[in-house]
Amino acid sequence: MQYYSLNGHSPMVDFKEATIKGQAPDKGLYFPREIAILPKEFVKNIEEYSNEEIAYRLLQPYIGEDIEPGQLRKIVNETINFPIPLKEIEPSTFILELFHGPTLAFKDVGARFMSRCLSWFASGHDRKIIVLVATSGDTGGAVASSFYEVPNVEVVILYPSGKVSPIQEKQLTTPGKNIHALEIAGNFDDCQALVKKAFADNDLTRKLFLTSANSINVARWLPQQVYYALAWKQWPYKNEPPVVSVPSGNFGNICAGLLAHLSGIPVKRFIAACNANDVIPQYFQTGNRISKPAVPTASNAMDVADPSNFIRILELFERNLDNVKAKVCATTSSDAETAATIHEVFQQYNYTLDPHTAVAWNGLNKNRSHGEKGIVIGTAHPIKFPDFVEYNTGSKLAYPPSVQSLLSLDASSTQMKVDYPDLKEFLLAF
Ligand SMILES: *Cc1c(COP(=O)(O)O)cnc(C)c1O
Repeated sequence: MQYYSLNGHSPMVDFKEATIKGQAPDKGLYFPREIAILPKEFVKNIEEYSNEEIAYRLLQPYIGEDIEPGQLRKIVNETINFPIPLKEIEPSTFILELFHGPTLAFKDVGARFMSRCLSWFASGHDRKIIVLVATSGDTGGAVASSFYEVPNVEVVILYPSGKVSPIQEKQLTTPGKNIHALEIAGNFDDCQALVKKAFADNDLTRKLFLTSANSINVARWLPQQVYYALAWKQWPYKNEPPVVSVPSGNFGNICAGLLAHLSGIPVKRFIAACNANDVIPQYFQTGNRISKPAVPTASNAMDVADPSNFIRILELFERNLDNVKAKVCATTSSDAETAATIHEVFQQYNYTLDPHTAVAWNGLNKNRSHGEKGIVIGTAHPIKFPDFVEYNTGSKLAYPPSVQSLLSLDASSTQMKVDYPDLKEFLLAF
């Protein structure tokens, strides 16, 4: 499969180059030249296929010959080696639980797929790939866990000292081996600025095989299609496709869902459920895309001012907003609504929502007609946001065993000032 840049000024590349580069030289996002249509028989009989086979069939056309079939199957199997259940909460509302992976959030799937693809591509080179990322919390954990002990790859994660949660810090600082945590005496923007300097430093990029694990990378975006196929596999009303509500920040997840749908997975319509960061709901309403700074909310992984994947959604619909609106509605929930949703769902169904999933639950209920059946995409385990969740349910959460053992591990990180020469020296030591 070939990929072109959505900015239109860079040459086409194959999957391998799109993955290693992350972004096109003209700063555009890469986009596949074709949508791979799934055979009707496959969609109709999806219940007969294993999760691994479904994932392989969805992804193989986008990788093409860049990874040979046996290796790709191995990568796919390692990517989804945890359960992804569709749970019925009440007769017309289901939750697809995407948070049973190692870091208890759905980003595990994309990060695991990407790490293994990069490792495979690096194995043909004489140099190791160095993945350099700045994190404000969640991404770093998914990246650290996904790349842990993956051959041929070293990972350097910059995080702001004192500004990530204790669980998040443990996720970054306890793996060791090929995962290197740099605790920066600054804020997230300082971390990001250091990383940007490194990528712009030609002297450094000549000497090192440097790449980012950015969320716009095609190898993180494309595997998310699999969620929607696995939801369909488990959907009990095959002659009545679901309305699917997706908690959306950077719009990568919902965009992958739309790609899966255009490939043949039945969905009645999508709901892009946002928090108070409502640039896209506003755009749907007014036709104007204004820019405003991100505001902090309880669903902080969705506090995105300018969702970078939205341009991919437009591309899927001939760059025409009205075409998008025929399939997708965009909605917003305040923190007060999110809190009330967590409270009510716990009271009525004894089910604990995390704040992101609660935004999608509320978005579904505000935007469906009576009797319409729907799926809420559950993106994080509530234990990742214990204070907000416990306050609104009035009930203490139990720590899953994986988190308990994580908290007892020894941490190790390198402390660093906001100083580019120090970072460069650190990187050149690899
Ligand atoms: C990243 C994230 C989201 C938003 O996903 P996008 O693909 O950026 O729209 C939603 N929920 C959780 C828990 C996340 O970590």
